[in-house]
Amino acid sequence: EAAGALLQARGLSVRYGGVVANDDITLDVGAGEIVGLIGPNGAGKTTFVDAVTGFTKSTGEVTMGGVRIDGYSPHRRRGTGMARTWQAGELFADLTVAENLAVAVQKPGLKALFADIFTGSKPPVKTIDEALTMVGLTDAADRHPSELALGQQKLVGVARALVGGTKMVLLDEPAAGLDTHESRDFGNELRRIAATGIGVLLIDHDMSLVLDVCHRLYVLDFGKVIAAGAPQEIRDDPRVVSAYLGSA
Ligand code: ATP
Repeated sequence: EAAGALLQARGLSVRYGGVVANDDITLDVGAGEIVGLIGPNGAGKTTFVDAVTGFTKSTGEVTMGGVRIDGYSPHRRRGTGMARTWQAGELFADLTVAENLAVAVQKPGLKALFADIFTGSKPPVKTIDEALTMVGLTDAADRHPSELALGQQKLVGVARALVGGTKMVLLDEPAAGLDTHESRDFGNELRRIAATGIGVLLIDHDMSLVLDVCHRLYVLDFGKVIAAGAPQEIRDDPRVVSAYLGSA
């Protein structure tokens, strides 16, 4: 609820016919903060990302840098500095790593939107080189995704989201399929990204990653936030244990 929150959702709700997939969600992410969004399958985590980024219709308020954006198209929201990854975030196999990032490079017209919302603040990552450097993959620029370990491929997906002046990334299960070692490396990269001032919303079922890297967590169950707080508080919260952790 910090006044300086980068991303803020207030009272966000999404209905799919009779299903309330997101029920009055209030959540914020600050600059440089890693915030986790966890919950059982079907709890509404992906729906929340879809709603915030404008890919699904929602009610409630969304702001970036204090500016209301819930009336914006996905494209225009992207221009405010938010970027997402997809749960099935496959890379283009025929393209090199650098080319996979080039796909995301924005149209020049969007620069004006960045200027409006973040007056005077320079986006930390603008170019493909900068994004690859940030995730430690400069050497992989000319290789193809299949030549990289899965953990590195996931980082290419994150780097793609960072290109173009991104201030806030929403990562939908980026660690799925990673082994313990890869997941720990991935967590370290997320810390480096956040340390540059980028806000991170992390959705993942890998609880050791989430508990380890997140500054704060929100727990969703049946579309509602049932708990929010520091990782240690969440881990010990009986409602969370019964709704989620107990079965994980
Ligand atoms: P998972 O951890 O399995 O990815 P999730 O927490 O991301 O789950 P969502 O995918 O957001 O959950 O789903 C929330 C609810 O909304 C579920 O009941 C799901 O069936 C429903 N739902 C999601 N997308 C749609 C859609 N396009 N049309 C109808 N119902 C949907």
